[in-house]
Amino acid sequence: MNSLTTDCIFCKIVKKELPTKIIFENDICVAFNDIKPVSPTHILVIPKVHIKSLWEATDGELLGKLLLAAKEVAKQNNLNEGFRTVINTGDNGGQTVYHLHLHVLGGRFHKWPPG
Ligand code: 5GP
Ligand code: ZN
Repeated sequence: MNSLTTDCIFCKIVKKELPTKIIFENDICVAFNDIKPVSPTHILVIPKVHIKSLWEATDGELLGKLLLAAKEVAKQNNLNEGFRTVINTGDNGGQTVYHLHLHVLGGRFHKWPPG
């Protein structure tokens, strides 16, 4: 589904119904700090349209723009020493909010492989 839904917390953030400081915005996405950060910098980049997960995503231009927005967010937050970009997909991927989002993690070393 490509429109905003009423029962999705990230759609509520896009619609500004949930008070959340937007730290980056462009034509296709918004970014804000994760409520439960796992790194000193932990930012979520989400499309303005509701897409459940990467599994449902079909718009390559949108996906490309989301990645470029993640890079912009990393630059604006001075993550010069590097950062981790994560998309959790589905239950086994650890996805808990079913509105596509990119995690941008920085400010510490991120080991590989993740848990
Ligand atoms: P997932 O586990 O689906 O990949 O990531 C969802 C992320 O959204 C989690 O890191 C969680 O802390 C964050 N989150 C969940 N609800 C809210 C919220 O209401 N506001 C913000 N800023 N982050 C949220
Ligand atoms: Zn949504």
